Amino acid sequence: MSDFPSRETARELDRDDPLSEFADRFDVPDGQYMDGNSLGPISEDAERTLDRVVDEWRELGIRGWTDADEPWFTYAERLGSMTAPLVGAEEDEVVVANSTTVNIHTLVGTFLDVIDSPTVVVDDLDFPTDHYAIRAQLRQRGHDPDEHLVAVESRDSRTIDEDDVVAAMAAHDPGIVFLPSVLYRSGQLLDIERLTEEAHERGILAGFDLAHSVGAIDHDLSGVGVDFAVWCNYKYLSAGPGAIAGLYVNREHFGTTPALAGWWGHDKATQFDMELTFTPADDAGAWQIGTVPMLSAAPLEGSLRMFEEAGIETVREKSVSLTDYLVELVDTLSESDYDCEVGTPRDPDRRGGHVAVEHPEAYRVSLALKERDIVVDYRPPNVVRICPAPLYNSHEDVWDVVDELRRILSDGAYGQFDRQDGGVT
Ligand SMILES: *Cc1c(COP(=O)(O)O)cnc(C)c1O
Repeated sequence: MSDFPSRETARELDRDDPLSEFADRFDVPDGQYMDGNSLGPISEDAERTLDRVVDEWRELGIRGWTDADEPWFTYAERLGSMTAPLVGAEEDEVVVANSTTVNIHTLVGTFLDVIDSPTVVVDDLDFPTDHYAIRAQLRQRGHDPDEHLVAVESRDSRTIDEDDVVAAMAAHDPGIVFLPSVLYRSGQLLDIERLTEEAHERGILAGFDLAHSVGAIDHDLSGVGVDFAVWCNYKYLSAGPGAIAGLYVNREHFGTTPALAGWWGHDKATQFDMELTFTPADDAGAWQIGTVPMLSAAPLEGSLRMFEEAGIETVREKSVSLTDYLVELVDTLSESDYDCEVGTPRDPDRRGGHVAVEHPEAYRVSLALKERDIVVDYRPPNVVRICPAPLYNSHEDVWDVVDELRRILSDGAYGQFDRQDGGVT
């Protein structure tokens, strides 16, 4: 048996937290909220920019497109430039648009149209929507997805070995490799730089889904030469449920015709000439489709300003400290024979912002936590995902959550819940 560390160990770590002031700016439901990788909570900052846009709508009506504080007409590009430092891109390589799934459709579709090989390498631990979208894009071009979507298999059903991805690149001659930065279940962080280099050496394009890393990890997409990327803004970036998504296209690909064209991707200078010929913008803005949904974009502005204030490197440092501590606490439970285990890589360089705690009764354990106002989520078959977010969670919060988990496991309290029957978790 190993001793469970005291609450004081958490307080000690919180003492020199440079981000402790930010928590007051968030409205988090009572209890402990450790689900910011699914839906980030609201902040005053996000609410303020949303309110401003609502007021502009009231006061300016249609003139908001040109006369608003941040004119709506170029708002998506503006938010793109503000996001660029978080992903390590040039300002014109990023835009906010559509949803993540739609962005996968348009970007994978775009590049399928210009490359020689219609094969895409992915992995078998992916978030399902990524596969649905890529399969659909292959089908629409007359390629059998069962043949042309190659999913690298996990060896341990938790992680993907980059060597296996490289082997698949060599074996299947794909045109595109499209992978997550951080796996949504185990939280493994893939080596984006190495995978991009290996892809480029073989003339393959490298795209990434940053849904589980944007706002938690500092990226260097341009520096590394990543070809394209997509992400959600409602997870770590706390821009609200269903918020507009983000995308990145490397400058090298500016001018490539978007697969899903629409007037919002038209060259801004002549968009309102209403020509029937589509002239795409000469930057990432070209991958927009329809009118920017202002109300699902506005909260992101406040959020991004907050991240700018905090600094993404500092955010990442605190995130690593929180997850290190979480892993350490869960390890003491494993050592006490509680049948739970950390399923996330222990090396911080191989880990995103959440930790997967595996337990054979993970579903019922997550319900027992929920009953105690601890918001985490369950991912089949055996994972409770715990995500301490740097801007509003402390080490003491982490201690509270694992302490509850310890009680639930020690008295078997999860036994009172029924086994799984579906629904949103
Ligand atoms: C959350 C998530 C999505 C969600 O896509 P939406 O279009 O916003 O519903 C896509 N991919 C990954 C990897 C995700 O984690």
